[in-house]
Order: sequence, then structure tokens, then C-alpha cells
Amino acid sequence: MRKTIAIADFVVGGDTFAVIAGPCAVESEAQLFAAAEAVAQAGAALLRGGAFKPRTSPKSFQGLGKEGLELLLRASQRTGLPVVTEVMDPRDVQLVAEHAAVLQVGARNMQNFPLLREVGRQRLPVLLKRGPAATVEELLYAAQYITNEGNGNVILCERGIRSFDPSTRYVLDLAIVPVLRERTDLPILVDPSHGTGRASLVRPMVLAAAAAGADGVITEVHADPQRALCDGAQALLPMEFGQMMNDLRRLLPMLGRRLVRPGASGHATSTTGTISDEFTAP
Ligand code: PEP
Ligand code: MN
Repeated sequence: MRKTIAIADFVVGGDTFAVIAGPCAVESEAQLFAAAEAVAQAGAALLRGGAFKPRTSPKSFQGLGKEGLELLLRASQRTGLPVVTEVMDPRDVQLVAEHAAVLQVGARNMQNFPLLREVGRQRLPVLLKRGPAATVEELLYAAQYITNEGNGNVILCERGIRSFDPSTRYVLDLAIVPVLRERTDLPILVDPSHGTGRASLVRPMVLAAAAAGADGVITEVHADPQRALCDGAQALLPMEFGQMMNDLRRLLPMLGRRLVRPGASGHATSTTGTISDEFTAP
């Protein structure tokens, strides 16, 4: 039995398909609320947005920190969408947990073992992103660091791996979805925004992710991508996000899945998640 993870009043996993959307980073109240309202209206299940940003250059915008978390909480209250946001430092886990419904461990921190253990001690679900050079085995071991601490609510996320071709930001490894399906009952998400780095590629890869059997996607949306402080090139405009959602509404019934929406999916249930016996730590 595949694991379902209860978030607010719906579940991720099983026969559902969850769309997480929002800006890369929380930049301001106006920017966050514009994106949050647009994605809520178009049917997203969860709102994303980074308050603590893992930036390659220390000179880049690093996020609003606590102020960003407070804005996320207000955007959540206003739209009714639960929030997913990244935590980078084990010392911030409690604070982030007070403002979010799902804790995100970013690709760069997939093997930050103190962080994995700390989020494993929380009760909130954890969205664990695959490191850009991590194997399936390394991703599953990282998940085990979390589950071993008692938190079985881990959602895995493919977000692209490093390769040789600069025509896309990373190479979105969609084959990992069925590969993971053979190895674990944890829900599997795909992030085509970071995986491709280009807004025009997000919609086709979202549909491909659904066809590959993903339990959902996480996409970046910005009302004014050209002025985004982070990842503007891969951000969908609200209108493009709406088109993507309409395409999903047509595709998902053929795949035996339904789009989840807060307030629309009846009773939430949760089953116990494990990593299959085939995968045993040495
Ligand atoms: C993000 O989702 O905000 C992010 C930084 O993604 P990743 O960790 O996959 O690079
Ligand atoms: Mn981003």
C-alpha cells in the first residue's frame, strides 16, 4: 500500500495529485500575496516560497528570514493554502515549523545529516529534495535519516541532476519516478522549475511527471518574473500556471488521479510509511 500523508484536510499520495506553487523566494508582502492568490485561485494545493534561500553566491538575495515566514503565515491564512518552506539550519527548524505545514529540505542540504535528524524529530511532513548529484540510494538513505527519528512523513522530490548540457539548468530525471516507486512507498514529487530552469519547459514537464506516476509537482510562479529577485527565468506567470492546471485537469482522470485542493477532498487519512525491504541500509 502506498503511503498517503495528511496535510491540512487533504492527503498527498495515493490516487491524488498535489500541485505546490508560489514564488521561489518571499520578496515582499505584495509580491507574495499576488502569487499566493493567483495559485490558490487556479487550484494549487499548497503554497511554496522561500524565506531562507540557499543561494550559490553569497552576494545574492538570501531571503527575508523570519519576516518572510511571517508573510507566509499570513498568505496561508488569507488563501487557505498550507505552506511549504525551506529550512537550511537545524537551529531554525522550530521557528520554521511554527510557520509552515511542510518543512522543505533543499537539494543542497539533502545530506546535511544534523538537519535531517532535526526535521525527523518534528511532526510536520518533510519535502526532501534530491541533491543534484545524488543517486537513488543516497536519496533513500537521506529519507531514512528522517524516518529513523520517528517522522515517517517524508515526500521525495526529483528536481534535476547535474549533467553536461547547459541548454537546461539541470536534467530533470523523470525515470527516477518509477524507479523510486519500485523502492519505496513514500510519495514522489517532481520540480520542473528547478529541473529545467526555463518557464517554457515547465508545463510539458509537469504533464510528463504526471504521466510518469508522480504524486504531484512543485512549480515556481511570479506575477512579474522579470523583476524577481530569484529564479525569474523559470517562474510561470499566473496565466501560464492556470493553463498548466487546466491541462492537468484534462490529463489526470486518464491516469486515475484527482487534483487535491484544500477543503475539497473530504477526510484526511494517514498510513504508515516505510522504505521497502529491498532497500536495506548496510
Ligand atoms: C527551492 O525549491 O526553493 C530550491 C532552492 O530548490 P532546490 O533545493 O531544488 O535547488
Ligand atoms: Mn527557486
